[in-house]
Order: sequence, then structure tokens, then C-alpha cells
Amino acid sequence: MSARVMIVEDEEPLTLLLRYNLEAEGYDVESVARGDEAETRLRERVPDLVLLDWMLPGLSGIELCRRLRARPETERLPIIMLTARGEETERVRGLATGADDYVVKPFSVPELVARVRSLLRRVKPDHIASQLKAGDIELDRETRRVRRGGRELELGPTEFRLLEFLMQTPGRVFSREQLLNGVWGHDVYIDERTVDVHVGRLRKVINRGRRQDPIRTVRGSGYSFDERFARAG
Ligand code: CA
Repeated sequence: MSARVMIVEDEEPLTLLLRYNLEAEGYDVESVARGDEAETRLRERVPDLVLLDWMLPGLSGIELCRRLRARPETERLPIIMLTARGEETERVRGLATGADDYVVKPFSVPELVARVRSLLRRVKPDHIASQLKAGDIELDRETRRVRRGGRELELGPTEFRLLEFLMQTPGRVFSREQLLNGVWGHDVYIDERTVDVHVGRLRKVINRGRRQDPIRTVRGSGYSFDERFARAG
């Protein structure tokens, strides 16, 4: 799957030039011309990297960057700041706010594309958020701990991976085969009923003493993490 790059820039010719060159490199590109609109979109869907202009209508690039760093979903999102010449001291502020890199306009497009590539390569191993949070459930990938309502849960390794997999995309329904591939791996031969067994074990632990079951069984299809549960709390 190609990496998704969001361009937040109000100079349309520059946006078109960047889009053209990034698409030629195989990236999936979306662009927004306003800072406030970018913030809304980034709440719906997080790309793999953002090219963020400094001066924008609606909300400045610097403020948007600061807000993105304050949210767990985007605290590690790779951001390259685009600044105009003469903002040299501001540039320092840009990095302090948490941008990963910056380029000064006018810049060479091949150089920017090279920086996009190198930043994506650098952050790829851990550009995924270390913590997932949905409803009252928190999952920490680094410490391998899961909490519900602040109370720690004891999950087996398979149940942990299953929950992690489902929590990544609340609302999406996965078939048993997709869950086998995603959680157990492609090369393992396991009966699809094994999925039901592990979902059962997972439910038993996470729902102990609670009414709301975050996992939906979708008849004839499979399982999903309930998106309404994920939004609550
Ligand atoms: Ca601008």
C-alpha cells in the first residue's frame, strides 16, 4: 500500500506542483488549502506524512502542528514544515513546536521529495501510535498492557494481538479469514473456528463485570470493534 501524504498549502500552483511530483513517486496525495479544514480532516483520517505550510488561512501551520502534537493519534505524525524565506527565527519555533523537518521556500521539488522519502523511511518502524484508545479501553503496544476503565486486564498473547488488530479500525468488519491472516499470519494453517474460540476468551476477560461488549459479532461476516463504543468515553 502506498504511503499517504497530505499537503496543507494555500498557494494553489505550489500544491499542484507538489501533488504532481509526489504522485509520480507513487504516493497517495490529498491536499487542503486551509488550516482549520486540515485539522478537521486529520481528525477523520491520519495520513503517513503531512507537508504543512507556515502561513495559512483559518489556522496557522504552527498552531496546527502544536495541536497535532498534543493529540495521541497524531503526536508522532511526520510533519515537514514549509516556511517562507525571512522566517528564520520562526523556523526554530517551528521545530520546537514539533515539526520533524522544514524547507524554506522557494525550494527544489526533487529535494523536498527526497526529504519526504527519507522521513518516511526513518519513521516507518514506529510511526504507528504506541497507544490505542477506544471507549474506556486503552492498549499500549510498547508495554503490552491493556486497561479497561483504568483497571488492568490479563490477556494472553493471541487475545492481545486480536484486540490490537480490531481496535485499529473500529467499525470495520473482518471476516474470520482476514482475522487469521492479520493476527496469526498468512503461513499458519488454523481452522477458522479458532478465531471464535479466541474472540470468546478475549470477551470473557474484557467484559468481566461489565455490560457493554465492545466486540460485535456480525452474522455471516465476522467481527468488528464497535465504533459507537469506541467513540464513547
Ligand atoms: Ca501560505
